[in-house]
Amino acid sequence: MKNNPLKTLDVSNASIVILPHINPDGDTLGSSLALYEYLKNNNERVWIVLDDPIPFNLGFLSVPIMTSDAFKELNLNPDFVFCMDSSDLGRLGDNQAFLDNAGTVINIDHHVTNIMYGDVNVVDPHASSTGEMVYRLISDTDYQIDKNMATAMYVAISTDTGSFKYSNTSADTMQIAGELIRAGIDLNYINTELYQNKPFEKILILKMAMKNMKLEDDGKLALTWISEADMKDMGLDNLDTDGVAEFFRDIHGVEVVVLLKEKTTNVFKGSLRSKHDFDVASLALKYGGGGHTKAAGLTISGTVEVAIDQIVKTYYEMVAN
Ligand code: 5GP
Ligand code: MN
Repeated sequence: MKNNPLKTLDVSNASIVILPHINPDGDTLGSSLALYEYLKNNNERVWIVLDDPIPFNLGFLSVPIMTSDAFKELNLNPDFVFCMDSSDLGRLGDNQAFLDNAGTVINIDHHVTNIMYGDVNVVDPHASSTGEMVYRLISDTDYQIDKNMATAMYVAISTDTGSFKYSNTSADTMQIAGELIRAGIDLNYINTELYQNKPFEKILILKMAMKNMKLEDDGKLALTWISEADMKDMGLDNLDTDGVAEFFRDIHGVEVVVLLKEKTTNVFKGSLRSKHDFDVASLALKYGGGGHTKAAGLTISGTVEVAIDQIVKTYYEMVAN
């Protein structure tokens, strides 16, 4: 492999920060953990810095997280900062500040919208997941991938491919998954933790989203939202909506899904999904977001009616072209 930063950079005895993205998912956490275990093998000074909560179904990974406040108390400028699964600096939230005083920034990602913000950019939009990329980088070294690391990599790949259903799943992806099974992972345990383990509150969120759903363009576009007030009324305080947008995409005839989650009053985080040809990353980019062709995200402000109207209008403009 050409330009493998794990081989070209001297990471031994260096201080290293690994940054997952905000609202972490299985890919950013799994790839961060796999890289952490690799680096930790011959280096004590490695930290995964993250302030956001870990989604319930990823708790079993036991990712060793340090908060940014705790890291700041160490009072050091890291020699290396690895940014995992983050297409732009906004994805790192406030922790992007760590990049200012870092020796070398390494950007490891698979988003087509990546803006190449690193000193070293390892970006492969053809990879199913950042986890798949980390598998390639580590298996290109002498390191023997063990069960724990394989579990982290498998979680990254499985979650980002919708359990190997999405079109980002390649023959290589399947082959790597096979190698990870060979490394001794407990497939049944992992799948149960990941997919058969929904907290009941998540079902309540789905119920609200179903109540609010509306269809446009003869049922091809499904839009829905979850308001801050509804969340409060139901006593829910977290917006772990992973899987909710996918639920609507599974409906016969639906091609594009827009799910808006009200973060603070009239500020919505949007999750976009598509089934066949519609490029939701382009739609997201028009609102300063980004992502993949079939899964992207954005932030939009305004009343929910105005926000939805705007997105519907953009959708129609895009399908007209
Ligand atoms: P999700 O809807 O699951 O939060 O995100 C779907 C995909 O879009 C992910 O690959 C994620 O990285 C990307 N994404 C979500 N929100 C944003 C955003 O605000 N900016 C960018 N650039 N990408 C996003
Ligand atoms: Mn990813």
